[in-house]
Amino acid sequence: MGTIDGLPPLREVIAAHDLVAKKQLGQNFLLDLNLTAKIARAAGDLSGSDVLEVGPGPGGLTRGLLVEGARHVVAVEKDARALPALDQIAQAFPGRLTVLHGDALDLDVMAHLTPPVKVVANLPYNVGTELLIRWLSPAVWPPFWDSLTLMFQKEVAERIVARPGSDHYGRLALLAQWRAEPKIVMTLPPEAFTPAPKVHSAVVHLKRLDAPRYPCDFKVLQRITAMAFNQRRKMLRSSLKGLGAGLEDMLRAAGIAPTARAEEISLEQFCALARQVG
Ligand code: SAM
Repeated sequence: MGTIDGLPPLREVIAAHDLVAKKQLGQNFLLDLNLTAKIARAAGDLSGSDVLEVGPGPGGLTRGLLVEGARHVVAVEKDARALPALDQIAQAFPGRLTVLHGDALDLDVMAHLTPPVKVVANLPYNVGTELLIRWLSPAVWPPFWDSLTLMFQKEVAERIVARPGSDHYGRLALLAQWRAEPKIVMTLPPEAFTPAPKVHSAVVHLKRLDAPRYPCDFKVLQRITAMAFNQRRKMLRSSLKGLGAGLEDMLRAAGIAPTARAEEISLEQFCALARQVG
């Protein structure tokens, strides 16, 4: 059966290049090109944007991004075995795909990208969370990207969109919601991947805000949320003791009861407290 882009089906690509999935690289491939096109569409209109894709592997999502009209895709892949398959895609979409071989945690990709930029990726769990935190924490805001559309384990996706009062609520939710609008746009069962992972997955779309939702200093916010959530079951007057004398007054001025616990406190209140701490 033909494919939407005229290239061979992904199972053939994997067999031809002997791309046996490696666990240490977190390789769980998406082989259904209708599904990868759907994930690409979840990133919004791609036609006027460059796309940074991390971990293209055999290229299923890459092909989805190109078919859905991305102006230019820059794909960073650590596994050299995938490069010939990606080269075939580059030839089928002349001038629209640049493949960089290396570790996305080390490579500087900025020279290859022209704004506006969207980031789209199906990444291994540990790399995905680390990159998300980096992409949300640059010294200067707004960042290089307009949106991030990323696959995570469902449990991590729930941590990103969690609200106060939920067990998933914590530092990741606060960071993501302070500077972006995160939404779960798709959930996928293990069988969507080859090989199937043990857990369900979800695609999170984060649209960046032009400025943080509430004004406060990033480092102070990081410090107080780390203290508060490292002892999430304790009352804030105890977990935040390290902020020194005057803590209870600062909490009250931020509209927070000193007896409250971290998971009850909204982002707005944490930012108000960060401004009190200064
Ligand atoms: N995007 C493909 C798909 O959806 O089928 C592959 C997804 S697979 C979950 C993750 C991919 O990320 C693999 O191709 C793996 O080799 C690559 N990868 C793992 N760690 C990486 C890193 N640090 N930098 C760049 N790529 C990485």
